[in-house]
Amino acid sequence: MTEKVRVRYAPSPTGFPHVGNIRTALFNWLFARHHKGSFIVRIENTDVARTVEGAVEAILGGLRWLGMDWDEGPDVGGDYGPYFQSERLKLYQAAAKQLVEQGDAYYCYCTPERLDEMRAEQIRLKQPPGYDRHCRQISATNNVLKLISGSRRVIRFRTPMEKQTTFTDYIRGEVTFENAKIDDFILLKSGGYPTYHLASIVDDHLMQISHILRAEEWLSSTPRHLMLYKALGYKLPQFVHLPMLLGADRSKLSKRHGAVSITEYQTQGYLPEAMMNFLALLGWSLDDKTEIISRKDLIDNFSLKRVSQTAAIFNREKLDWMNGVYIRNLSSGDLTRRVIPFLERELPPEVKRPISVEYVEKIIPLIQERIKKLEEVAGLTDFFFTGELDYQPDLLIVKKMNRELAGKALETSLLKLRRLPAFDEESLETMLRPLAEELELKTGQLFGTLRVAVTGRAVAPPLFQTMIALGKERCISRIKRAIAILKEMPEETDSE
Ligand code: GLU
Repeated sequence: MTEKVRVRYAPSPTGFPHVGNIRTALFNWLFARHHKGSFIVRIENTDVARTVEGAVEAILGGLRWLGMDWDEGPDVGGDYGPYFQSERLKLYQAAAKQLVEQGDAYYCYCTPERLDEMRAEQIRLKQPPGYDRHCRQISATNNVLKLISGSRRVIRFRTPMEKQTTFTDYIRGEVTFENAKIDDFILLKSGGYPTYHLASIVDDHLMQISHILRAEEWLSSTPRHLMLYKALGYKLPQFVHLPMLLGADRSKLSKRHGAVSITEYQTQGYLPEAMMNFLALLGWSLDDKTEIISRKDLIDNFSLKRVSQTAAIFNREKLDWMNGVYIRNLSSGDLTRRVIPFLERELPPEVKRPISVEYVEKIIPLIQERIKKLEEVAGLTDFFFTGELDYQPDLLIVKKMNRELAGKALETSLLKLRRLPAFDEESLETMLRPLAEELELKTGQLFGTLRVAVTGRAVAPPLFQTMIALGKERCISRIKRAIAILKEMPEETDSE
């Protein structure tokens, strides 16, 4: 690539940061980083009515979380700013004015009522929708008169009515649109705000954008943009329309398919590096098989040549699997550090804060293999933190045992446990295995009863390691309590 790569991510702050939109940002970012170019963030906030409070922060927060830094844009500035379109209105107004003066655009005075009637009539006559060019021929004199009378007006583009507009998209190849099918679209609204089409091309030109990587849904806007480029004498960038993102049922990825905001993925405990890896594979591939790709390898290998034409499917099971792989590859210290905020958030309020890092680090290896998202950790480990356990008493009576046997098993274990000189895996092993035999129980029965006594659950991480992490004192007091619970149970409680 001879020309310097300058790409932009141009979100409209009209809602939460959709993962599809973040995928677009990622492809731009990877492309910029691969070519040592510039990644620019431009906030397209000219649709005042649809602007949502907090959306800019959520979008930028999503980028930061994923580690996608920007060279120009909000917070960092740059030579081509401002990077909020609402601060660039004069530039769009000047371009619109230039187009009017050249005869490529015209003032339109149609009232909303007239436009509504026009639309209704088009529907009745089964005509294609679009502006009927009512004001296209208004003379300069009449314009002046209307201006004096204070009529509200917009500026529309004078779209050529014959021939075709053709361009080569990097992914789609040659694309052709019939000019006659494109109506005289609005460039500048009556309040002086530009439409997306005008603002986007003026900025892409002024910010010297070399490649426009954006979602396929914008392909149909591109002929309008090309007409504007031509009329304004701007140099064309390379267009790259990225494949659509679909849900598992092959319909456009939306809330119906579950979480679609990048913030939700962060909240659920996906790791940013797993998320980046996953998003990168939505429409791009390294080869035919590699799934786990580090950030560095993504940057080193990203190329438009391997962006696919076919739609990408957002497969949640794959994301969960991938997150699990990344989680298992973390050191226990690193995983602990990342899990702590989730525990702080999700453990019951009675658990003392701040949560001890040292203690969590002991617990983490017990569950690291099993978790797919960090938000699962609290539910799997809360018994490590809570004081008194809350469980169904009959859980203590595991398969083929009865109240008496369970009680005896716990009492003998308690006795031996108290006398145990060291509280480690080996001592527990050498004490508890022969004990099962002595009590004429299967190890599963003894361990099962003990597991419920110390964790309150029938399913928990490996027993000895769990007991060690809990500590001898806590195990003893929980076993004591389990014995008391058994004593309070009605006589006939047996398990089949
Ligand atoms: N503001 C548009 C959006 O929200 C940008 C489209 C483009 O990249 O041209 O996606």
